[in-house]
Amino acid sequence: MDNEIGVFSTSLAIPDPLAAIAKIAELGMPVLQMGPLPNEWYGAEGTERLAAALKERALRVSAVCAAFEGESYADIPTVQRTVGYVPAETMDERLEHTKRCADLAAALSATVLTTHVGFIPADTASADYARVVRAAQEIADYCASVGVTFGLETGQEAAPELLGFLGQVDRSNVKVNFDPANLILYGTGRPLEALDAAADYVVHVHVKDGLPPTGPQQLGTEVPLGEGEVNIAAYLGKLAAIGYRGPLIIEREAGSDRIGDVARGRELLQHLMREIA
Ligand code: MG
Repeated sequence: MDNEIGVFSTSLAIPDPLAAIAKIAELGMPVLQMGPLPNEWYGAEGTERLAAALKERALRVSAVCAAFEGESYADIPTVQRTVGYVPAETMDERLEHTKRCADLAAALSATVLTTHVGFIPADTASADYARVVRAAQEIADYCASVGVTFGLETGQEAAPELLGFLGQVDRSNVKVNFDPANLILYGTGRPLEALDAAADYVVHVHVKDGLPPTGPQQLGTEVPLGEGEVNIAAYLGKLAAIGYRGPLIIEREAGSDRIGDVARGRELLQHLMREIA
């Protein structure tokens, strides 16, 4: 297995994007996913500065992630209330921001835009469900116009709900950014079974690990790669088996030594990948 190993830029907890880019290059990674940026970076000047820094370091951006002000991942009810296109009152501004992120992706030659669309409402006949479907269609169509694939970040819903939603959105450029840990953190299923179910849609992946929730409505705990319940070796094996050839993007959203965790995570992946044909 010889996929490139990269990192989600904001996982390093370095607020300045140029400093984060420099650190990723110093770590010796060839590729990154661009996480959410401070607002001023989304204009033409910011894009130019980012492109120049990436070129100087010979770094490639595989994907750009859109996230929104006001989102909170404190516990499951808060996620349901605040994340993605589910809150009706912020949907229009979030759609506009997502389009700017798609523009940034295209400008940086990234082929994928990712976002959490939010907790997909359980009632598929509800107005909320229809609104999130329409939002995803609008983003997909905009992405298509700039030559980008729209990758839904996964794991807040179980695989059958995700596949049902993708069917309703019904756009050929809507795929999945698969995150195995989220299924554990949200208690929504077994990662490897979900990966099998979503295999045809996987366009980009995160490598993240986690432990399950210990109480109702709580989220589990994200942990360094290899310390959680994903089974990273089996995850890599399954990615190879479904023919995923894209980058393995390490994501680390917790802990006090993010850079150390990312560096150790990469070593673990390199070790495990040598075992996989
Ligand atoms: Mg993720």
